[in-house]
Amino acid sequence: MNIHEYQAKAVLRAFAVPLANGYPAFTPEEAEDAARKVGGPLWVIKSQIHAGGRGKGRFKETSAGEKGGVRLARSTDEAKTLAKEMLGATLVTVQTGPHGKQVNRLYIEDGANIDKEFYLSALVDRETSRVAFVLSTEGGVNIEDVAHKTPEKIHSFSVDPATGIMPHHGRTAARALGLVGDQAKQIESLVTKLYAAFVAKDMSMLEINPLIAMTNGLLRVLDAKLSFDDNALYRHPDIAALRDETEEDAKEIEASKYDLNYIALDGTIGCMVNGAGLAMATMDIIKLYGESPANFLDVGGGASKEKVTAAFKIITADPNVKGILINIFGGIMRCDVIAEGVIAAVKEVGLQVPLVVRLEGTNVDLGKAIIRDSGLNVIPADDLDDAAQKIVTAVKKGRAA
Ligand code: GDP
Ligand code: MG
Repeated sequence: MNIHEYQAKAVLRAFAVPLANGYPAFTPEEAEDAARKVGGPLWVIKSQIHAGGRGKGRFKETSAGEKGGVRLARSTDEAKTLAKEMLGATLVTVQTGPHGKQVNRLYIEDGANIDKEFYLSALVDRETSRVAFVLSTEGGVNIEDVAHKTPEKIHSFSVDPATGIMPHHGRTAARALGLVGDQAKQIESLVTKLYAAFVAKDMSMLEINPLIAMTNGLLRVLDAKLSFDDNALYRHPDIAALRDETEEDAKEIEASKYDLNYIALDGTIGCMVNGAGLAMATMDIIKLYGESPANFLDVGGGASKEKVTAAFKIITADPNVKGILINIFGGIMRCDVIAEGVIAAVKEVGLQVPLVVRLEGTNVDLGKAIIRDSGLNVIPADDLDDAAQKIVTAVKKGRAA
């Protein structure tokens, strides 16, 4: 789960991480109030959306001005004017895709005088099964570009969970960022606090881009992005409460209610599969035959008829879906249950696009018979290869017609 920058900063503040004073605002009046409370003389008005690259982003509406999703204000009046322009407007950044995201919240922060910008992140490194830190002197820019063009400017180290973070990690961080003296002490203290926050809150990623050194010598977290491990959210009701469903895909929210592993994608073929590996293979073979999957969907090992119906409805609600491929290998899951779920769903929501079904495994003959006897226009397939070719052909034919 992702949260907004202002929420991330509130989480980090509880761990005594150095941050600017700031307040969220949902209206221009709140923005003016927030600016007054913060004090000035320089304010930063920051769009709160679950996407980065806001500073270099552009609003779709010309009335929102040309200057991007992070603006500097020099009076409380200007803070209010900028808030009026930005609230409700649609911000397009490299991370939002061309549709952009509507800005419904702002964060009004005390502006800093920046001397240097750095990059610092922490994440779970699956290779070492440890929390790893990534640091670079190249902050405030796209870190993927830095990794691509100047990989030698990226430093990383991982932390042994048995010992936790040690003073030598702090010294490594200082060396990586070229910090000495008091600033070296500051970064040592900062990585210690960030590691504590990361572990205590079961984060999966923490990204600070940029971390800044101010002209007064102090380090400050200027931007913060946090992601949390969904599987551990039940332990953190305070974090779960920060969820902003307006930032998430409506189909994914619906799927999570039924415990379906669903990820929306931008292709044309809706997929319903049991097992993550089979779902990946199904997506690959659709690609192989020249189309793209509209989603990843693993209905799980022991899906009920209700779960299958819900999954089918989520797939058909997507207007990009031009064909559906159901690929089930019945082990624990019985093919007749799948067949009944599919038929119940088709009867309820109708079927506007071609549907190919490939069933194999437990009760396969019964499953196939149920589909055959339903009288529904379902294209049966013998194996995965056959199924993928049939759905791709049907979708292409539909497009040509
Ligand atoms: P992002 O573009 O979504 O990553 O948003 P950031 O929070 O990283 O802000 C983008 C840029 O705005 C930063 O890299 C800074 O250049 C600028 N910025 C943000 N806060 C301040 C501030 O307090 N003072 C100054 N001078 N610039 C700021
Ligand atoms: Mg940033």
